[in-house]
Amino acid sequence: MQDTSKFSINPNENRATSERIAQVHAKPAFGAVFTDHMARIDWDAEQGWHDGEITAYGPIQMDPACSVFHYGQEIFEGMKAYRHEDGSIWTFRPEQNADRFRRSAARLALPEVPNDVFLSGITELVTLDQEWVPVADGGEASLYLRPFMIATEVGLGVRPSKSAAYMVIASPAGPYFASGLKPVSIWLSEDYTRAAPGGTGAAKCGGNYAASLNPMAEGQRNGCDQVVFLDAIENKWVEELGGMNLFFVYRDGSIVTPELSGTILEGVTRDSVISLARDAGYEVIERKFSLEEWREGVSHGDITEVFACGTAAVITPVGKLVWREGQMTMGNKETGGDVALALRQALLDIQYGRKEDTHGWLHQLV
Ligand SMILES: *Cc1c(COP(=O)(O)O)cnc(C)c1O
Repeated sequence: MQDTSKFSINPNENRATSERIAQVHAKPAFGAVFTDHMARIDWDAEQGWHDGEITAYGPIQMDPACSVFHYGQEIFEGMKAYRHEDGSIWTFRPEQNADRFRRSAARLALPEVPNDVFLSGITELVTLDQEWVPVADGGEASLYLRPFMIATEVGLGVRPSKSAAYMVIASPAGPYFASGLKPVSIWLSEDYTRAAPGGTGAAKCGGNYAASLNPMAEGQRNGCDQVVFLDAIENKWVEELGGMNLFFVYRDGSIVTPELSGTILEGVTRDSVISLARDAGYEVIERKFSLEEWREGVSHGDITEVFACGTAAVITPVGKLVWREGQMTMGNKETGGDVALALRQALLDIQYGRKEDTHGWLHQLV
């Protein structure tokens, strides 16, 4: 087991009843209701990580001059806890998230959380709030986990904060697509980019999301669900969506995904999909992939499916690309396509313990 000594437990005296939890499980909305507890551990240069605690979930009091409010030193992760048929609770490749959290921290001049502390916060929280993890019913319900870090130093001086807090909160999540899996439509962002070389594109920081909200709203005004960004230099290479990586399935059995260029977030789902696709006999190629190739591949019928992936939505088929001057459709109208569906099923079967985890990706929490 993990060394959990870093977090003392101060239980919530006013926990939700089993009826209330059942109510939330019956109608989960993404990230709307949170469990009874949260994890927090503080850092400063003198003491390092100290005073870790699991306490009642609730508002935190902060000085208005804390640097996170002014200079945006904030990073986060997105993970899930899955309940298996036998009642045990697992998470998926957490060391990948812990490693990425440390890389994000380094880029944002925040202190690195050691992997064992990162994972202890999660394990302790899920152990205490295990009733909040939905039962295994063959579906896609889980407990969504949101580890994050904020800069807490008080003062407006522009410099790396001398103190920070690592926290974990958790929220029951139903299937991402409540009304069933349907291909999404994607807006091509022509006026805005997500990340430039040397910038923060490979870090999971709130600022990247803040900058993607305006293009996202533009996409929604144009009837789309998601936004795709091109590279910032040539405006030519397909990078990723605001929060998901992209894959292109070819008729010849090869699958292309944009290479990790430093401006793309290194998705754990992306990496897992590459492995699963290779296991299934597909040739997966990581390379630069242009918008022109996308358009021509679809119009000539060489690209048969396009899909996006990330922890929250798992694998999402893409049905349409829309830009200012036009649009095109792709994949099967109803399902997106068989390759995306099969990979999606393979991933879910491992996460929920329904198929053998040959890669050693699962980590037991409870
Ligand atoms: C989180 C995220 C992803 C998906 O990463 P996973 O580890 O698969 O959840 C992809 N792109 C961006 C920009 C992200 O923030």
